Amino acid sequence: MSSGTVENTEPKESDEKTEEPESALETARRQLEHAAAHLDVDSGVIERLKHPTKVHRVAVPLERDDGEVEVFTGYRAQHDDVRGPYKGGLRFHPHVSEEECVGLSMWMTWKCAVMDLPFGGGKGGVVVDPKSLSSDEKEKLTRRFAEELRPFIGPKKDIPAPDMGTDAQTMAWFMDAYSMQEGETIPGVVTGKPPVVGGSEGRDEAPGRSVAIIAREAADYYDYDLEETTVAVQGFGSVGANAARLLDDWGANVVAVSDVNGAIYDPDGLDTHSVPSHEEEPEAVMTHDVPQKLSNEKILELDVDVLVPAAVGNVITADNAADVEADVVVEGANGPTTFAADSILQERGVQVVPDILANAGGVTVSYFEWLQDINRRQWSLERVNDELESHMLSAWNDVRAEVEARDVSWRDAAYIVALSRIAEAKSTRGLWP
Ligand code: NAD
Repeated sequence: MSSGTVENTEPKESDEKTEEPESALETARRQLEHAAAHLDVDSGVIERLKHPTKVHRVAVPLERDDGEVEVFTGYRAQHDDVRGPYKGGLRFHPHVSEEECVGLSMWMTWKCAVMDLPFGGGKGGVVVDPKSLSSDEKEKLTRRFAEELRPFIGPKKDIPAPDMGTDAQTMAWFMDAYSMQEGETIPGVVTGKPPVVGGSEGRDEAPGRSVAIIAREAADYYDYDLEETTVAVQGFGSVGANAARLLDDWGANVVAVSDVNGAIYDPDGLDTHSVPSHEEEPEAVMTHDVPQKLSNEKILELDVDVLVPAAVGNVITADNAADVEADVVVEGANGPTTFAADSILQERGVQVVPDILANAGGVTVSYFEWLQDINRRQWSLERVNDELESHMLSAWNDVRAEVEARDVSWRDAAYIVALSRIAEAKSTRGLWP
């Protein structure tokens, strides 16, 4: 699993329609204020939510394969745990920073709350290019990072997961290092592990599955018959390919998909299972034999019912929002729509269902994994998928109720649901001393 960058962009006051990048932290705080404006929430609660509870910074020494010792910097930001332990990914990436971890930990607080999971938001990582590490070095770095974070994490305190540059194997090493020092096997300290060491069935597919469920519900809400709904999916990786294939299986007409090299388009519908996903054969979508090939920009402008941007952040911007012809955008990637683009789409009546709801299947199945670990049980894939379906429908219905009651966008509604839950928990617990 990964949880990409969420830098949004603000409109610049010039004729050129270019946008300034906005940090994850600025985005997270702006969304908080947006939602707060709709609610009668104590200003002290909002003030508390603007700041992370704790940010840990650790030095992670590593003896490289050539015998040299290098010291890397690691972080763990813990935003808020009023509803339960902190939850969120650990990334190995050269651009990891304290501010980015804080911003992304806030996003996790909203995502867990909109899904009504008993978790708060956390995020962390090591400032390192994982491609520069051998497998042995990556294992040693992971184990030492786990040891440095050990006082602050645990199944009841803070539960990391994989993110950019880390994967199921990284989580297995992390869990092993933590367990060895604690003197007992504690699988619930991290999620996203391989099933053989306490991982959950269905975890890898879950973000794509949740995107498909939400796209299906959105189509139904706007009175489309799924059998006649046309869908375009940008990005054919873990999120995009799983979402596209499920929608295809459920009868939707997936007419276009893309990878970093471009898009394939067939107005009669693609056989998505025969198009190689990123995992099956990286960046091979364009090798598929279809009537039309398009650029990655053009796939966003196709006249389809549902558009799923599921590749990277900031692809729908002030420059192309006016050209988006889809009626509904379901955000598969994190932060694919910039702030300026969001306003343009809203003015044009294009409905945007936000990432914190649509791709939350990953953290939801992480919650199931944690439940399985602490209960020492293994759920079947069927049970995981059934529970995911019911959690997604429940979150969808909660957000839909706010859309209808307040006449707000899907994004604002999702943040309103999240903030009301967090604020109510904060007010009920009170401030001590
Ligand atoms: P992935 O690496 O499996 O696949 C990414 C796909 O996007 C590939 O097909 C790649 O070719 C394509 N791509 C890359 N850059 C592109 C570009 N500039 N233009 C068009 N296509 C491009 O990644 P993923 O895990 O599917 O993640 C995709 C997005 O979803 C990211 O924003 C990620 O943060 C977010 N997300 C992922 C998960 C998860 O668990 N995998 C969960 C929540 C959110």
